[in-house]
Amino acid sequence: MSDLPNLDHYWLPFTANRQFKSMPRLFKAAKGNYYTTIDDRTLLDGTAGLWCVAAGHGREEIASSVAHQLRTLDYAPAFQNSHPLAFEAAERLAQYMPPGLDRIFFTGSGSESADTALKIALAYHRITGNPLRNKLIGRERGYHGVNFGGLAVGGIAGNRKAFGNGLPGVDHIRHTLDIGLNAFTRGLPQDGGIALANEFEQRITTLHDPATIAALIVEPMQGSAGVLLPPVGYLKRLREICDKHGILLIFDEVITGFGRLGTRFAADYFGVTPDIITCAKALTNGAVPMGAVAVKREIHDAFMANSPAGGIELPHGYTYTAHPVACAAALATLDIFASEKLEDRAAGLSAHFEQAAHSLKGLPFVKDIRNIGLVAGIELESIPGKPGAAAFATYLKCYEMGVLVRYTGDILAISPPLTIEKDEIDRLFGTIGEALTTLAAEGE
Ligand code: PLP
Repeated sequence: MSDLPNLDHYWLPFTANRQFKSMPRLFKAAKGNYYTTIDDRTLLDGTAGLWCVAAGHGREEIASSVAHQLRTLDYAPAFQNSHPLAFEAAERLAQYMPPGLDRIFFTGSGSESADTALKIALAYHRITGNPLRNKLIGRERGYHGVNFGGLAVGGIAGNRKAFGNGLPGVDHIRHTLDIGLNAFTRGLPQDGGIALANEFEQRITTLHDPATIAALIVEPMQGSAGVLLPPVGYLKRLREICDKHGILLIFDEVITGFGRLGTRFAADYFGVTPDIITCAKALTNGAVPMGAVAVKREIHDAFMANSPAGGIELPHGYTYTAHPVACAAALATLDIFASEKLEDRAAGLSAHFEQAAHSLKGLPFVKDIRNIGLVAGIELESIPGKPGAAAFATYLKCYEMGVLVRYTGDILAISPPLTIEKDEIDRLFGTIGEALTTLAAEGE
């Protein structure tokens, strides 16, 4: 392969490094819905990078905004000082959020957003006189990034077992996937949502005192664990239970934010307003690292009202909180969303996307297909003794055939840029189908 760099020094995240280095897959450019590899092959991007390049690659508006910002104000101290773009970006993001979630804390990533949200929840209860509300609840198969808070409330076994539990005082409720009941359901599973949500209440009342629970954090759609959808009514019922017991509800919208489901946020899609929303990824269209935590105004105001005058209300933040370059990228991205109405575009494409995804039913290895908005999960039968091997082989085959998909365990996760065209959607799923058929013929 031409132009191959020295591979010795870079330790890749969430990657089988030795395997990768034996067959490196490197990109050198990207434009629109396509990547170019270092050996000059073109790949249709079926993953929006890592769920983040919602507006398509190489957006000139973002590039010029970022370049201008770098030349104008490259950095301003984030503590005790700031810069106008930070306030502008917060205002614009607040306007983009569901009503009421209009106080914004900026971070550098989805992981930092998760930990920030959890810390705000804990601190909120302390500052309002409830220090015993100090337990956090997550979900099995949840993913909230890799920092210690997110690790603790996360529920992907493989991510936890290398490090232990992360934090004490954390519990997990069940995830929402029931293939036995819902295999090949198009869109949301219809049944079982209320009963499943009621298990949360049962768990906190029998195993904990609900008055000790600070917050429940959930991804409205569990993305990283392989596209696990909430059954109808589930999230609404969680909201009711949280309200009943004074528990803060946090939606981790790092994947579901910014049009992925055909609405701005999943909160809008499901008509359920959490107390805190975390986001990142498509906030800057993946161009510059940035995350954000949107908090209900009452929560923010409780910090302002209950802290000594002149004192720091929340002793938390990052050197790169509201980095000027990230703010410039976020503002340019929000402009693109406003002018191109990408949420509506995704909503308009979702029926075609659903049809294309479910056309894979009946092909070799395919055990379940799940979809919502412009996300699909294709769960494959495990090859005995080789967990994940079928999905990895499919990913490689698609890569050879010019399409980038993502795999997690035995599940292919598809989430193209929201700028994808119908014929590209057809090509995306057509290629996956061809890859599966070829692999079966080759006896994988
Ligand atoms: N939360 C969710 C729901 C995610 O999907 C991710 C990343 O995929 C994260 C948090 C972590 O984000 P980051 O990798 O930017 O730290």
